[in-house]
Amino acid sequence: MDITEYSYVIVGSGLLGSVTAERIANQLNQPVLVIEKRDHIGGNCYSATDPATGIEYHRYGTHIFHTSNEKVWNYIRRFTSFNTYRHKVLSCYKDRIYPFPINLATINQFFDRNLKPQEVEHFLNTLRQPVKGTPANFEEQAISLLGPELYEAFFKHYTIKQWQVDPRQLPPAIFNRLPFRNNYDDNYFFDRWQGIPEKGYTDLFQRLLADKKIKVLLNTDFFEVRHLLKKDACLIYSGPIDRFFDYKYGKLSWRTLRFEQETVDTEDYQGNSVINFPEADIPYTRIHEPRHLHPEKEYPKDKTIIIREYSLADRGDDPYYPIAAAENQRLLGLYQKEAAQLNNVFISGRLGDYKYYDMHQTIDRALEIFETRILPQTHPIHAV
Ligand code: FAD
Ligand code: UDP
Repeated sequence: MDITEYSYVIVGSGLLGSVTAERIANQLNQPVLVIEKRDHIGGNCYSATDPATGIEYHRYGTHIFHTSNEKVWNYIRRFTSFNTYRHKVLSCYKDRIYPFPINLATINQFFDRNLKPQEVEHFLNTLRQPVKGTPANFEEQAISLLGPELYEAFFKHYTIKQWQVDPRQLPPAIFNRLPFRNNYDDNYFFDRWQGIPEKGYTDLFQRLLADKKIKVLLNTDFFEVRHLLKKDACLIYSGPIDRFFDYKYGKLSWRTLRFEQETVDTEDYQGNSVINFPEADIPYTRIHEPRHLHPEKEYPKDKTIIIREYSLADRGDDPYYPIAAAENQRLLGLYQKEAAQLNNVFISGRLGDYKYYDMHQTIDRALEIFETRILPQTHPIHAV
């Protein structure tokens, strides 16, 4: 089938695009065209095998699947099985390693105490700096919950490195992504289910896109082929929303990442899949060691790979993270108003909704779009 003939066109082969494509092909029994500008499927979840060591790694940063959403969990397991990996993160502050996010071990080690769980609340009350009303930003939220010492050590400079803005310009919700525990539970996530796809994320995407009715065009920018597509095709767009409208109200700001990979001649470099570096004078935010993501696999005894992650402002080529500052929210509102007026065009995903979705939230969003918007309609009518 020629690309001019498709009635369902999807931009982006990340989770939003691939799940929607799978639903359209398998539930509507319709041909789907997926347009992807990168040279691979999978969006930011993409995984690959390092040729020198055989270690499976995630090219765009460590991705841990976690969810408490039963519908999403049941859906995604039809395309992959998950290993038993449980995510735990460590933070390296002044050359000492602490469990992170903050739990009782972190507090006892940092303040050289031996507090019991029931003593933590009282102790934190001696550290906390309450703010007037409800905390209005990341810094106020952190200081009102944990006090300035822990904030300075583990959050402030890491957040500045990661977001390149003053934490007072970030919403409290970003801080709230992290759990706090007054016991020794060092799991990163609260969720009911978690793990890493046993055969990697790319295998999961291959299965999502396996139906013969799905055609994937790699290395193709939607905006360069848009004029060739059927005018009344149903369009699901998971690229940046400001780009879709040709930046008519101005550019949203994004953050991107740079990764530096190194092969090291040792079996285990750091003893954990991720170690965070919250100090200002260390330029990277974290070091990933992907071999730890697959404890079930046999990997070399003399080699490992490590990946240093650097955060930087996006200059328009590879946006990863929306930046939830007030001006961006204003622009987003204008773009969303335009988007709501389009018929048969659905703009969504991390880049399309300009939202900090985790994978399970992106899958949920794709299923919702399919079930509530695409499935009920029978006659696509809007121009691409
Ligand atoms: P993406 O994966 O970004 O896919 C969008 C796709 O659209 C891309 O492939 C892009 O190339 C393509 N595209 C854009 N514009 C065009 C165009 N004009 N033409 C053609 N193609 C185009 N979630 C978790 O649950 N757990 C984690 O541990 C986790 N870790 C993360 C770590 C990092 C560093 C990042 C950035 C995200 C992480 N996430 C994690 C979130 C997860 O990556 C997202 O939820 C998910 O990838 C969003 O899928 P998406 O399809 O919306 O976007
Ligand atoms: N954060 C921090 N110190 C850390 C890890 C995270 O201050 O060691 C902050 C940072 O601002 C981050 C937020 O907490 O954006 C949420 O953390 P999460 O791990 O959810 O962020 P992600 O890696 O998904 O961006």
